[in-house]
Amino acid sequence: MPNCPRCQKPVYFAERVTSIGYDWHRPCLRCENEACKKTLAAGSHSEREGKPYCNRCYGAMFGPRGYGHGGVESHTFHQGQTTGQVILFESLECESI
Ligand SMILES: [Zn+2]
Ligand SMILES: [Zn+2]
Repeated sequence: MPNCPRCQKPVYFAERVTSIGYDWHRPCLRCENEACKKTLAAGSHSEREGKPYCNRCYGAMFGPRGYGHGGVESHTFHQGQTTGQVILFESLECESI
């Protein structure tokens, strides 16, 4: 009998939902974000370090393309702030390449 990763209690077949490699109680499979806690549907949510997140929180917390695209994200950030600096920033980077 597998134990639910959230409440550590046994998961019976009737209430079991399998996602991201774990067996959960249906109400226990919910977004890890304390401010959200949305109940998730198995297979249609995001995951990070074995913890389930809804796609919206995952995108907000870790970026829509996941982790490890720092260069792209910093460009996006600057574009959202001051346009003048972005042009300078990007042209400088192009010259160095
Ligand atoms: Zn549980
Ligand atoms: Zn969420």
